[in-house]
Amino acid sequence: PANRLAWKLDNTYARLPEAFWTAVAPTPARAPGMIMFNQPLAAELGLLADGADIDPDALAQIFSGNALPEGAAAIAQAYAGHQFGNFTMLGDGRALLVGEQVAPDGRRFDVQFKGAGPTPFSRQGDGRAALGPMLREYVISEAMHALGVPTTRSLAVVATGEGVFREEPLPGAVLTRVAASHLRFGTFQYAAALGQPELLQALVDYAIDRHDPDLRGAPAPALGLLRRVMERHVDLVLNWIRIGFVHGVMNTDNMTISGETIDYGPCAFIDGFNPAAVFSSIDQGGRYAFGAQPGVAQWNLARLAEALLPLLDPDKDAAIRLAEEQLNGFRDLYQIRWQAMMRRKLGLAAIDGEEESDAALMGELLQWMRAAGADYANTFRALSDDDVTRPEQFADAAFSEWRTRWEARRDRNPISPAAARALMLAANPAVIPRNHVVEDALAAATGGNLAPLKALLNALARPYEPFHGDPAYTEPGPGGFKTFCGT
Ligand code: AMP
Ligand code: MG
Ligand code: MG
Repeated sequence: PANRLAWKLDNTYARLPEAFWTAVAPTPARAPGMIMFNQPLAAELGLLADGADIDPDALAQIFSGNALPEGAAAIAQAYAGHQFGNFTMLGDGRALLVGEQVAPDGRRFDVQFKGAGPTPFSRQGDGRAALGPMLREYVISEAMHALGVPTTRSLAVVATGEGVFREEPLPGAVLTRVAASHLRFGTFQYAAALGQPELLQALVDYAIDRHDPDLRGAPAPALGLLRRVMERHVDLVLNWIRIGFVHGVMNTDNMTISGETIDYGPCAFIDGFNPAAVFSSIDQGGRYAFGAQPGVAQWNLARLAEALLPLLDPDKDAAIRLAEEQLNGFRDLYQIRWQAMMRRKLGLAAIDGEEESDAALMGELLQWMRAAGADYANTFRALSDDDVTRPEQFADAAFSEWRTRWEARRDRNPISPAAARALMLAANPAVIPRNHVVEDALAAATGGNLAPLKALLNALARPYEPFHGDPAYTEPGPGGFKTFCGT
């Protein structure tokens, strides 16, 4: 097989002032072995021009960081962030940006090695990552992509052949993460904390060039950028709510300017509908609970706005007014788009005069689900499939009563029943990465058997199609699932 990938790397981020990054060579891995390679993503990135079959040992050398791709300039990015509400100076403690791959369609993607060794930002950490959590990020990020949620992607996982210590010795790994960029809210907070307006300006110009080039030369570009990021995060959180995803660690350093989901640490999917659902063992107060996510997004956007203040208006009070005006729009925008999203989930087309009764219909279904302990994904999918006979909860009178009203509302739809059903089937996945299924597949994978993980990835690649696979995939798991951060 060929052993060369068709890299086309650029390094625009490394051309920002040096305050934003530090050059760091990856720490070599002793005995790298290829675990996962995302062939379709590699093709999309234009990496497979020389033919699809690349020698796995050559891939392992590259994606461990042992043999840097041509054109690579490995750097750790500087950033700050509010972690559970506390402002901290941070930076890539175990990740190295190697460059931006320019895809055949002209799109530009950051390529980052996560777990490639310590950096000046590592603080107490070892700069390394364990295999289980990197495979977890791989499977969940790829599932999110297939679910239609903006997300970073996973290109490869390589076992390092070395152990990492996480209360117990575990196999080490490097994940190659692909992102529209790694610009975070925290990157702007870092620039603002430096107190040099020209650095903040350089970062804003860079972000606009990269994500919102139409704002170049606009009358108020920084305000325009804030608006765009707000819109992207409204849509991002709505996507999470749509599929029952709990991010788990919505610190401002884990919020991207691009609006992609990033940092798959203690994330999880809800089974039963519960706004208070928390899966992260370190989120004691429920700060990042399922239903708290829209409010947290707004809070995080306020931190981004604060960082941008010096560029919004030379007069501080005027700048604050502009930022507040912008952020006060969050609630309405969220509410309008939430209703639009829920209409799709329920197969309702908008008609004048239905706004209030639709909102009640949505709220009452959620209330019933909470009270009955009904599974969130399965309930919406059963409604989409018009199959409300299966789970026993559907026998209950409150549900029948709701369903009668829902059907009456659907009869008033200005679209055909088939079109309404198509809306639902595209909004309500038949299969999601359920916590118990993911954990079982990861346990097998870290024990050397990749088959369950590959079967799961395969099922998750087409989540909206009728599902006829392993019935365990669509079953709610046992309660009490917890996951851990920083692994
Ligand atoms: P996270 O909670 O995953 O968003 O990570 C917060 C910060 O901790 C980031 O600056 C990471 O780079 C850093 N970090 C996480 N794990 C490690 C590790 N094993 N070694 C060094 N730094 C780490
Ligand atoms: Mg992070
Ligand atoms: Mg993390």
